[in-house]
Amino acid sequence: MSRAFIALGSNLEQPQQQVRAALSALDAIPGIRLQRASSLYRTAPVGYLDQPDFINAVAELETELAPLALLDALMQVEERFGRVRSFRNAPRVLDLDLLMVEGVVLDSERLTLPHPRMHERAFVLAPLAELQPDLAVGGHGRADQLLGTLDASGVERLAS
Ligand code: ADP
Ligand code: MG
Repeated sequence: MSRAFIALGSNLEQPQQQVRAALSALDAIPGIRLQRASSLYRTAPVGYLDQPDFINAVAELETELAPLALLDALMQVEERFGRVRSFRNAPRVLDLDLLMVEGVVLDSERLTLPHPRMHERAFVLAPLAELQPDLAVGGHGRADQLLGTLDASGVERLAS
């Protein structure tokens, strides 16, 4: 079994419900057990700005799946939720990114671990630091310290 952290995001078709349903869908996959989930966060879009706010969260999983099998499972859930890939940073019903798998460093065509951009994204680090502030994020430092270096003004934790 290995421990993994997943980032969830949605900004279409009732995003809070999409993210909550995605957490249940992950837990229902054979070989995956949901351990903990962060609060939901309302976050301003990054990159492509002319789109609705996002709902983001981070989940901690235990899994028997190898990293690429885990990525496949995440992409199947995205598809089941009606994800359409159009352009980079486009609005989406559900995005599931694999942030890290404990002890795994990987740089392949389909999968880079730890996720190469997580240390610069407040919408990932805020929910991640809520779950585990001292988590080491690649070679970049602790989740809570990294979050402190970023502009997190567009990131709002929602009451649960
Ligand atoms: P984004 O999440 O950047 O908006 P996509 O969800 O469309 O974009 O993912 C683009 C590609 O990123 C996927 O086809 C996947 O193979 C690749 N990828 C590489 N590393 C990761 C990772 N750690 N987690 C999720 N996808 C990854
Ligand atoms: Mg993605």
